[in-house]
Amino acid sequence: MKNTTQSLVIGNWKMNPQKATEAKKIATELKSLLKKNTSVMVVVAPPALYLGEVKKALGTSTIVLGAQTVNAAPLGAQTGELSVPMLTDAGVGTIIVGHSERRALGETDAMIADKVTAILKGKLTPIICIGERERDTQGNFLGLVETQIKTALSTVPKARFKDIVIAYEPIWAIGTGATATPDDVNEMRLFIQKTLTKHFDRAAAMKVRIIYGGSVSAENAASLYVGSGVDGFLVGGASLRPAEFAKIVSSVS
Ligand code: PEP
Repeated sequence: MKNTTQSLVIGNWKMNPQKATEAKKIATELKSLLKKNTSVMVVVAPPALYLGEVKKALGTSTIVLGAQTVNAAPLGAQTGELSVPMLTDAGVGTIIVGHSERRALGETDAMIADKVTAILKGKLTPIICIGERERDTQGNFLGLVETQIKTALSTVPKARFKDIVIAYEPIWAIGTGATATPDDVNEMRLFIQKTLTKHFDRAAAMKVRIIYGGSVSAENAASLYVGSGVDGFLVGGASLRPAEFAKIVSSVS
């Protein structure tokens, strides 16, 4: 059953585009295309270097500014890193953590837990990415997903579960065009709720928003949304194409 929270669509621009002027153009087009949207929470997460430019382009739009990663420390000797207070100061409201492309660079479940704690302390929303590299017929991938969830939320008080978003992003579906089926995603949504209930409690579990990411497009968004019961999407490639991204937003409204 679909819960009644506001739907959510997040655009992860990754390391794109190559110029600030292009980032500004995408943001300006999105602002215009989504100006009538009041029902869906829309987030765009550009490269950190463009946050100021994108914020300016979004102006008074309700589109929320997001970040693609963060360091758990508030400040200090962390060369190349950005902290929650810095991102807050730049106008960010939501931060993606544990994306598989960051995990591939060495981000561990324990580091993700520290980041989640720092993000919640800063009163921002963490988008916690989880997901298996591949599915095996014995269902071992479910154990990996369970560990990812249990560890990421290990220090989160139950009262804050309402501020958490879990993005189920099977690695085999990211950027491949091999989208999970609505049934796959529904099954995993139920497994995530079951895991949260097992390790925390049922009431808190039902407050966590669950979204899906992995080759979401204008063509498959509506059937995935209706067929899986998720609260929305984390979109990579298609988020750089404003008209397509806007169609994905309207398919969850
Ligand atoms: C992502 O990187 O989070 C993602 C879901 O990418 P894509 O939509 O391109 O598969």
